[in-house]
Order: sequence, then C-alpha cells, then structure tokens
Amino acid sequence: MPRQQKSPEIEARVIVRHEKQFKKNCEEQSCGNEFIGLTRQRFCSAKCRNLANYHRHRERYSETKAAKYQETKTHKEKQATA
Ligand SMILES: [Zn+2]
Repeated sequence: MPRQQKSPEIEARVIVRHEKQFKKNCEEQSCGNEFIGLTRQRFCSAKCRNLANYHRHRERYSETKAAKYQETKTHKEKQATA
C-alpha cells in the first residue's frame, strides 16, 4: 500500500483524535466518577461539565441557556467517542 502524503490540515485532525488519555475522577462534586479522559477533560461527561459550569455561573445562566449548552456539548462528546 503506497504511502500518501498527508496535508497539514488532516495531520492536525489526526493529532487531536489521538490525544493522550488519562484515568481521572470527575470534578463535579455530586458525581466523582472515574473516567478515561483527555488531558484537558475534567468531567466524565458533558452532563457533569455542564452541571459544574452551571453551578459556577448559576446567577448568569438561565435554565434554558444551560440546556442548550448541554445539547451542543453532548453532540460533540458523541463524535469524540466514535
Ligand atoms: Zn461526572
């Protein structure tokens, strides 16, 4: 199989998908689940990330906004795990 030269654009995408993963504990107080996540990941799921974010900015986020935020993040999470 001949080796194809990758364009820089594709290379960058590959690096992102093969980022190192670590065993961590979810930083959301009410959860604390152990999970395998990327270096920058602090929560086991989009739900926890959203929850923690909501707790931090409770006064700034209306419930509608929080729900919309979670929806977007959940979709991204699915793509990352696939
Ligand atoms: Zn969690």
